[in-house]
Order: sequence, then structure tokens, then C-alpha cells
Amino acid sequence: MLLLNRRIIPFTIEFIRIYSFKLGPMNKSPKATSTSTSCLYCGNEITGRTDKKFCTVQCKAQFNNRKKNKEEESIQKLNRILRKNRNILKEINNAGHSGTQQEALQQMGFDFRFYTHQVSENNTTFNFCYEWGYSRL
Ligand SMILES: [Zn+2]
Repeated sequence: MLLLNRRIIPFTIEFIRIYSFKLGPMNKSPKATSTSTSCLYCGNEITGRTDKKFCTVQCKAQFNNRKKNKEEESIQKLNRILRKNRNILKEINNAGHSGTQQEALQQMGFDFRFYTHQVSENNTTFNFCYEWGYSRL
């Protein structure tokens, strides 16, 4: 059980029903077909085996790097939102407020769609952005 302490920030928000969310369209890798004869990275014609996807080892490495970087971008994009949410909660608490309005947080750039985890205790659900959380009053 998580011990809730005074850093928990309660504030009044309208009821929000959260199901699941996606981070916009994800970058899809081009599909390789068995009849493909062009490099998935540079588009050059591939010679040799028909199941080859890349013209060179370098193209394969570049392709995989690009794919990895795009996945990393998605993670970092979400991390930026979560970090901003966390810093807003911290800022409000450090300013001496134990509660605030949903609108005030939104004006500061708080994004209610994102949090790291939820904890429920005594019929109250807390949404956390790392170590800072909030609940509805
Ligand atoms: Zn190539």
C-alpha cells in the first residue's frame, strides 16, 4: 500500500472518463513483399537474392536506426508531457496551494490525458505524474 502524504494535491475537476489513448499515428515501417526488388531504405534496385530487403548492410543499419529513433521520439514526446504535468503539480504545491481548479492547471499547460499511474485508497483515486498526484474532491 502506498502511503499518501501531504504532497498529494487534491483539486476539483469535472468527471473525466478515461479509456485508452494513442499517441497519434505511429510511423509504420514499409512492408517488405516477396516480390520487392527495391531497397527499403534508399529505394535502389536490389540484386541477388529475392528475399533481400536492403541493397547494402549500410542501408539496413540506417533503416533500423531511423526506426529506432522514431520509436524513441514517441517515448520522449510522452515523457515531455508527463514531466510538464509533474512540474505543474509541484509548482502549485510549492506555491502553497493544496487545491486548484482544473482550468487553472490547463492554462498552465497541464494535460489531463497523461499520468504515470493510479492509486486508489479510501474510495479516492489518485492520478500520479511520477511522485506528484492529484485527486478529485
Ligand atoms: Zn539501399
